[in-house]
Amino acid sequence: ATAEKLLEVNNIEVIYNHVILVLKGVSLHVPKGGITALLGGNGAGKTTTLKAVSNLLHSERGEVTKGSILYRGERVADLDPAAMVKKGVIQVMEGRHCFEHLTVEENLLTGSYTRGASKGEIDADLDLVYSYFPRLKERRKSQAGYTSGGEQQMVAIGRAIMSRPETVLLDEPSMGLAPQLVEQIFGIVKDLNEKEGLTFLLAEQNTNVALRFAHYGYILESGRIVMDGPAAELRENPDVKEFYLGMS
Ligand code: ATP
Repeated sequence: ATAEKLLEVNNIEVIYNHVILVLKGVSLHVPKGGITALLGGNGAGKTTTLKAVSNLLHSERGEVTKGSILYRGERVADLDPAAMVKKGVIQVMEGRHCFEHLTVEENLLTGSYTRGASKGEIDADLDLVYSYFPRLKERRKSQAGYTSGGEQQMVAIGRAIMSRPETVLLDEPSMGLAPQLVEQIFGIVKDLNEKEGLTFLLAEQNTNVALRFAHYGYILESGRIVMDGPAAELRENPDVKEFYLGMS
């Protein structure tokens, strides 16, 4: 059976400041329950693609000028970011973006405010996050600004989970982290996918790791998808091996 298409990006163009054409016709599909990787080097347009989906481009003077974005078959390009979160789509930004002066637990709680949950539901969600990130439970009273890079990445993902999303757009989770931590974070993403049924679209420069954990991959170069396929096939593809797997 073919998996239900949750997110469909059809031939989108994105322009910044009315003049800078960054995405030149990007199409991709994210099936429900999958981990889909969007790969490519610095400046290829990965972050722009994620922000187009979560409707975070407006604040950066970016605009989708062509194509369409559908979530569960419905056009979502005109919604604001908060409405996207209500639909079940949340983005974890590159660079982690914790509230440095709040504790780890206060940071997590900010993720639940969008959905008017009861205290009981919020406590259950906190328990869920702590079950996947036991380290955050140990650190829950620490000021987020004093936790490590890996812990801050966990906080960023944990906070997203507090909004009970269906789809998580994860931007560059490996950035700035030691290889062991990268493995740990990706392992947790895989667990969340398998056990909680969360769908992931993740942007990564680290092709090697991403293709080991994802089911399907798209490779973006200068604003165009140049290749796509099941992760296992991309890993064996000679061009991918030469141009992408050698690097990481
Ligand atoms: P990175 O790994 O560096 O985040 P990326 O693949 O995510 O790379 P984007 O951040 O989407 O790439 O950037 C794609 C291109 O768009 C780059 O050339 C970048 O300079 C340009 N760009 C990004 N944001 C803006 C903006 N707000 N205004 C103008 N140009 C931008």
